[in-house]
Amino acid sequence: MKRLPLAEATPCSVSTTCPYCGVGCGVKATVTDVEARTVTIAGDESHPANAGRLCVKGAALGETVALEGRLLHPEIRGERRTWDEALGHVAGEFARIIREHGPEAVAIYASGQLLTEDYYVANKLMKGFIGTANIDTNSRLCMSSSVAGHKRAFGSDTVPNCYEDLELADLVVLTGSNAAWCHPVLFQRIKAEKERRPGLRVVVIDPRRTATCELADLHLPVKAGEDVRLFNALLAYLATHGVLDDAFIGAHTRGFSAALATAVAQDNHIPHLAATLGLDALDLERFFSWFATTPRTLTLYSQGVNQSSAGADKVNAILNCHLATGRIGKPGSGPLSLTGQPNAMGGREVGGLANMLAAHMEIENPVHRERVQRFWGAPSVAATPGHKAVDMFEAVHDGRIKAIWILATNPVVSLPDADRVRAALQRCELVVVSDCIADTDTTRLAHVKFPALGWGEKDGTVTNSERRISRQRPFLPMPGEARADWWIVCEVAKRMGFADAFSFASPADIFAEHAALSAFENDEAHGRRDFDIGGVAALDVAGYRDLEPFQWPRRQGEAQGPARLFGEGGFFTPDGRASFLAVGARGPVHAPDQDYPFVLNTGRIRDQWHTMTRTGLAARLLQHIGEPFCALHPDDAAGLGISVGEVVELESRWGLARARAELTADQAPGTVFMPMHWTGVLASASRVGAVVNPAVDPVSGQPESKHTPVRVRRFGAQWHGFLFSTVALPLPAADYAVAIRGGKFWRFELAGQSAPADRQELANELLKYSREQHLAGVSVESLEYVDLARGVYRQAVIAEGRLQSVCFIGPDSGSLPERGLCLFWCGRENDSPGHRHAYAGVGGGHRPTLQGRQQLRLLPAGIEGDPGELPGRAGAGFRLSFRAVSLTGGRSE
Ligand code: SF4
Repeated sequence: MKRLPLAEATPCSVSTTCPYCGVGCGVKATVTDVEARTVTIAGDESHPANAGRLCVKGAALGETVALEGRLLHPEIRGERRTWDEALGHVAGEFARIIREHGPEAVAIYASGQLLTEDYYVANKLMKGFIGTANIDTNSRLCMSSSVAGHKRAFGSDTVPNCYEDLELADLVVLTGSNAAWCHPVLFQRIKAEKERRPGLRVVVIDPRRTATCELADLHLPVKAGEDVRLFNALLAYLATHGVLDDAFIGAHTRGFSAALATAVAQDNHIPHLAATLGLDALDLERFFSWFATTPRTLTLYSQGVNQSSAGADKVNAILNCHLATGRIGKPGSGPLSLTGQPNAMGGREVGGLANMLAAHMEIENPVHRERVQRFWGAPSVAATPGHKAVDMFEAVHDGRIKAIWILATNPVVSLPDADRVRAALQRCELVVVSDCIADTDTTRLAHVKFPALGWGEKDGTVTNSERRISRQRPFLPMPGEARADWWIVCEVAKRMGFADAFSFASPADIFAEHAALSAFENDEAHGRRDFDIGGVAALDVAGYRDLEPFQWPRRQGEAQGPARLFGEGGFFTPDGRASFLAVGARGPVHAPDQDYPFVLNTGRIRDQWHTMTRTGLAARLLQHIGEPFCALHPDDAAGLGISVGEVVELESRWGLARARAELTADQAPGTVFMPMHWTGVLASASRVGAVVNPAVDPVSGQPESKHTPVRVRRFGAQWHGFLFSTVALPLPAADYAVAIRGGKFWRFELAGQSAPADRQELANELLKYSREQHLAGVSVESLEYVDLARGVYRQAVIAEGRLQSVCFIGPDSGSLPERGLCLFWCGRENDSPGHRHAYAGVGGGHRPTLQGRQQLRLLPAGIEGDPGELPGRAGAGFRLSFRAVSLTGGRSE
């Protein structure tokens, strides 16, 4: 695997890109200590996406590059193996299964986290050499409805506009997008422009009042799932108010009459429409009027539109309005889909979805297949689409797929009906996982684990939401035996007999082939395709290393591609015309009913990324929101007897999750929201994916993650507790348990549904790992207190004279002390007996009742300490019992 020498790659600071959202911000990374992997992070002022800005996630990237938790060696069934053994095993098993059951019996499930070069070789291997299109990706979950909408309207998966339009628009419409949290730097750009130019109007269309509404001149809390009806009504309004661009419609489109007929067929009478959409009639009219009278209108849309069983139709309903007004691909004017992941777009370019071919060619087009096969020198190219994500795991569940290779993603958390996904992998003959993290919900089910490189080590390219291709450059050494995903895929391919087609020496080689394929027979004679980066196909290694961000298409001989497309037509359909789609409003697949009366919506929070395998490493990112929560309207909560902060259960027909209740009028009555991030590694029962229904859009295959009928109820905790530890502990076994990383400690929030028979036993179990360290020769002591008045039991474990862990158990959450008090004591350098006294929360001028001789040995002096420095909540009638146990050399109680 060829790689630039690190010294050459990291002379001072390295320009790379953020690995999180689809904004694709440029980052300057400066390594200050290679051994310690300390890195300072700054926004890259020269990058067009962010011009130096970063959001809090991007700014915290330097806190996520340590080696803690990394997978550093190949493993087969939990045993460390050499690369040769692991690669040979996977290649041999894939070959055997293909021999015995055919190519459809194997699959790859990839990720928008992969670099384009990784994606390219994985797609090439599956579609060209194994001969199946069973390669899909977690991008299916975030933007496949946009892909389908683009292709139906434009004939190609092309984003017509660019970020510069944020500053050029007079009206920005954000629909199904909480950009303030999910695409923060784009939100910052709109905010800055609105401050500079207050006349810029912002409309937010979202059932929830999200942080994005901070900027909104108008918030339309449309009923969940009603977007098609809303945009159809807008199309009808534009027609009746004479603001159609007849010249554009006539010269560059087809199908307008049918689309308009469908739009006017619904009841668009404003009072009726407003009631159906759940909106104020004046607000609705105001939106229509603003849209009609503002030529420079930019519509941003994201998962709130895409993650629906009518996602593709919603996209087309939006595109219809822009095509009808000719507002597309013009400065400040057009539709702009915001992709969720850093390289969802790159994955689309190489054909990483089961229904696409490489370089935006079509799998069902025999001319395209023959062209790709010829270019690759492949034995054949898969002729039919493979399984899309949800179907793929269903095929694993019923045994049609017998081997699956999962790269850089965590489907046991993120897919809908996630417990079924877990069951599918448990029964699968061969599960291979490539990841940089050792312990995830998915790696726990892997038969073979390949250690992959992480951000800062990887080398390749990504494409952001505005078609801008940027380099992701390495600045840290490859740790352990971790290797690049492209290298791992190529090594398996070589061992399967495809060495000639996979003998790439570097990502630069792969990129050159990818670029050449994009330009291959892409001309007037053979038919123009949108994706063409032939202008960079001849880059050598140095040219690739220094490649500056650019937008595609960038054809041969061009130094830059166009910022916008379709302003003057030129769509990638046989007749060059865009298609209007006649799309009628239809409801979700599963409607709420008496048993499951609430609608669950899922999404991201500001400071976390996907399943927290990276952002969960940065303590400061957990300060914003540290626990999974379920947001519900106060009236709904009152009806259910739910108080703020208590643990609640969300249950659907597919599964259950637990979270803290957050009561907010920002949530519409009858709806709840829960974040997507928490995993089975970090929480005992808070994977919202387990609750989400597996319904998908029939066109795009994208799951309906924004609409699952659920019921909500009190968890009914019989005890509450928390645990602080300065050492990492396994997640305690409790009905509700959540791990929260602090600066130098871990905190666990706990609750149980059955009253503990013996709180000491429960605490012993929770602190088992800490207490057992004496087995490894560590001096360990244990200290207990019981607050009889409040029923609070406390136990501390002191290792080598310093507090290591402390656990509190009480009958209700109000009986427990503020967590900050315990935080103060964790990891202190110089402990005194007075400090130890404080660990268990004694204070307030009350002295413990001392029992037995043990405490004299543990706390020979200073037991009284200074009450003023001892945290605690003692009140009238406070009584304590106290016991100290030395565990070193055995229990001496
Ligand atoms: Fe930029 Fe998105 Fe990274 Fe934030 S998470 S720095 S907005 S790319």
